[in-house]
Amino acid sequence: MTSSEPRGPAAPTGGSAAPTGGSAAATGGSAAAATDGPPAPRRHADGAPAPFAHVLPASMRAVVVDEFGALPSLRDAPVPACLADGVVVRVEATGVCRSDWHGWQGHDDGITLPHVPGHELAGTVAAVGADVSTWTVGDRVTVPFVCACGTCEACRAGEHQVCERQTQPGFTHDGSFAEYVALDHADVNLVRLPQGLSPVTAAALGCRFATAYRAVTVHGRPRPGDWVAVHGCGGVGLSAVMVAVAAGARVVALDTSAAARAAAAACGADVVLDPAEGTTTGGVVDPAAVAARVVATTGGGAHVSLDALGSPATAVASVLGLRRRGRHVQVGLLLATAAHPPLPMDRVVAWELEIIGSHGMAAHEYPAMLARIASGELRPDRLVGRTIGLPDAPAALAAMSRPAAAAGMTVIVP
Ligand SMILES: [Zn+2]
Ligand SMILES: [Zn+2]
Repeated sequence: MTSSEPRGPAAPTGGSAAPTGGSAAATGGSAAAATDGPPAPRRHADGAPAPFAHVLPASMRAVVVDEFGALPSLRDAPVPACLADGVVVRVEATGVCRSDWHGWQGHDDGITLPHVPGHELAGTVAAVGADVSTWTVGDRVTVPFVCACGTCEACRAGEHQVCERQTQPGFTHDGSFAEYVALDHADVNLVRLPQGLSPVTAAALGCRFATAYRAVTVHGRPRPGDWVAVHGCGGVGLSAVMVAVAAGARVVALDTSAAARAAAAACGADVVLDPAEGTTTGGVVDPAAVAARVVATTGGGAHVSLDALGSPATAVASVLGLRRRGRHVQVGLLLATAAHPPLPMDRVVAWELEIIGSHGMAAHEYPAMLARIASGELRPDRLVGRTIGLPDAPAALAAMSRPAAAAGMTVIVP
């Protein structure tokens, strides 16, 4: 994987690095099974064989990418090995996220083919490594999309979301578009699901909802009455709208999809705008014109603005739509040809704007968010648009190449 580029809920990555356990790709192989002969089992850094793999079945159904950009196939694959400090989780729900789409498109150089996507998961622990002390088989869990090492300088500072040696299911090793997924450093990364929280709702917590939660509450920090602009109302954008509204902010939400705008309004956005309306010249949206509409709507510019889509146009429009001393939070992934948007740094200096990247949320920060979900103040269940089975996952991934027809998150129930 790259060392400087983002990945996430359509979220940025910060650091990254080599996966802790052996081959980046082959989370494969607890046993024979499989289609192409037994792959090498993933081993722990010390070379110890994966423990407890025997309690797992040898094979499972999984969505496998064999070629970037070509439709993945649903087939039998080896159940991943359980590392000594990891667990294997029986997947009960897994979200279809734009960063899965980026990975499938070949925008992430950490992915080795063949590859199983999927990083927004909830499920039940099915196997536990010998060195894991806090988790047992049967625990219901989710996990941040960044699985931290727990020991690097960033982790020692509590900033697990930018761990130097992070692993990411669905990127550094096989992910959760499957019946089972391996998760590393379980004592550091697993999050226990509260009673009553369904796996389908919980699936978004490891990526889009948690990322939006932290992007708004830690980075954006709107005060009651402040204006928050949200560019892009997919899963992470709608989550941001909900969290900003809960903070007492006024929200202007922008999306070219009428269904997404309606969903943003249902999440409490005060104003919804179609960014293409009146801002397009020759089929190209002018970010400055989009920003001017935000400035007019907010009486001088947003106090906080998020690019929740991840494109040069939305990033620039977000920055230009701020008022003086405003804060832009980049949440959407900027990858491949979109990696270096032409941000107006003259404005950043003159108006003392802040530009902040957001890359998920550490497991230890989840309890406060889960408490607000348990109380009903935040309703991530409202963000789920539809549930599908594994056989429909390849088409759902491919559908992200086009503008969304329906609002909300798609969640796979394997
Ligand atoms: Zn995601
Ligand atoms: Zn670390």
